This record gives sequence, C-alpha cells and structure tokens, in this order.
Amino acid sequence: MQVNRRAFLAGGAAAAAGLTMLPQSRAVDIPLPAQEAVLKLSSQLGVIPGGSLEEKLDKMQGWGFDGVEVGGDVIGNEQKYLDAIANTDMQYNAICWGSCNGDLVSDDAERRKRGVDKLKQALESAGKIKSTGVIYVPAFIPETNRTNQEIRQLLVETFPAIGEFAVSVGSRVLFEPLNRNEAFFLRQLADAASICRDINSPGVQMMGDFYHMYIEETSDLGAFLSAGSYLHHVHLASRIRVLPGQDERSFVDGFRGLKLIGYQDYCSFECGCKEGTDRHEEIPKSLEFLREQWAQA
Ligand code: MG
Repeated sequence: MQVNRRAFLAGGAAAAAGLTMLPQSRAVDIPLPAQEAVLKLSSQLGVIPGGSLEEKLDKMQGWGFDGVEVGGDVIGNEQKYLDAIANTDMQYNAICWGSCNGDLVSDDAERRKRGVDKLKQALESAGKIKSTGVIYVPAFIPETNRTNQEIRQLLVETFPAIGEFAVSVGSRVLFEPLNRNEAFFLRQLADAASICRDINSPGVQMMGDFYHMYIEETSDLGAFLSAGSYLHHVHLASRIRVLPGQDERSFVDGFRGLKLIGYQDYCSFECGCKEGTDRHEEIPKSLEFLREQWAQA
C-alpha cells in the first residue's frame, strides 16, 4: 500500500469526523518469483552414519535426500566422489571449505596470496564435481586483528578477480555469515548481500545458516528477502544446532522467505543429533518435519 500525503490527510480528516476507513486488503505487494521455489534437501556427509562414502550415500539415497554437501577432502579426490555418486539420483552441492585460517584477509601479502591460491584450487574442484559453490568465511574471531571496515574493503578489492576465476571453472564462492560467538565480520545475510552487490560478480555469491540466523537475524523471512538472488545455499540446524525438529526452532518463516525469492538451490544439514537419540531414526523424522514446515510456509 502506498500512502501519499493527500491520502494521509484525507484519512486524518475522516477519522476526525468519526467516519470509518475501509480496511486495506494487504500492506505490501511482493511480486511472484520468476520460478516457483523448490525444497531440495541435502546433508553434510559428517551428519550421516556410515563407515565409507558409499555407505553414507546409500543411506542418503534411501532416506530421500536430493543432494550431498562435501568437505575439503574432495579436493584432489574428485573422481572418487564422482564415481561414488554416479549410481544415485543425488547431486553434489556446496563444498564446505571455511576460512583457510583467515589467510585471504591477513596483513601478510604472502599469506593472502597463498590463501587465494588455495581458494582457487577449491573452486576448480567444485567445478569438476558440479558443485553449487565453495563456502567461504573471511575470518573466525581469533584469526584477524583487522577491523570490519578493513576486511570489507579488502574483499571488495580482491574478490572481483576471484569471482572471474570461479566463473571460468564453472563455480562460485559462497560467503557464509556466522554468529557473533564465531565471527564479528559478516553476521547478517543483508550485509553479505551488500558485499556481493559491491563485488558484482556472478562468481561471488552467498548463503544463510538457520543456526547463525537464529542468533543474528530479527526475521528469517526478512533475511532471505534481503539476500534475494545472491542466495545459493542454506544450512539447516535447530536452535541448539541439532537436527531440525529436535527442538522448538521453526523453519516456517525462513521457508516463506525462500518461497518469496523463488529459491532453487539446496538446504543442507550442518548439525549434530540430540544426545541419546539414534541418527537412523532421527534423520528421516527430520526430513519429514522439514517437508511439513515447507508445506506450512
Ligand atoms: Mg554453516
């Protein structure tokens, strides 16, 4: 609804005269997304019980997962990973890579160069396994003495070239906002989105993590709306970072946000399992819970 000065004054005059205003049907108009959002469920391999990659993938396939998030050990072992997933209906999504000890935002130019080279290796690997991107955290708390202003400036200066490289190998960087107990730079999705906007490269995008969002965001829906088309991965965890559905954390508001932006990428478990409960029983229950939350959103 748009209220211009004339309508506002007219409303005031009507109210002063004791007249009833007609109710508005809705406050804002949010355009429908170009594509209808999809819920594609995934998990980090560490969450899944099993002794080998093949055993874990077998269980995931049986439980109805759509995708698999991998760790940094995929780098140099791409063929092994491709062979293992070939007989399933699933696909790899993000590589959870991390901060590389804060090397890319270090004061030391040599360390920065080393960090960039390592990130490029991860991006090449991500391209080979057709991953949705490489999850990158600029710095955990103990890894940097730089101010937020300095880190932001450094990213905006250095990441356009990294983004160009990422596109050339068929991948992208995914900035991950964390919560204040883990990082001070980059804690809200809107902030990550504004950095992506300033870097302005299809090779530099972002993600959101429901666990960190519970601590940092005032609205899951608002956070995902702010992220908009920059959002290409989501981590799933409850308030206490166990499987969704194992505590009171609701995903409905966030899923509404994902529906409003027409989200097409994966939502992936990055969490533990509540003590004393069995993953074999709890993981399928959690998937069911998330599908119900999506239906409610
Ligand atoms: Mg995460």
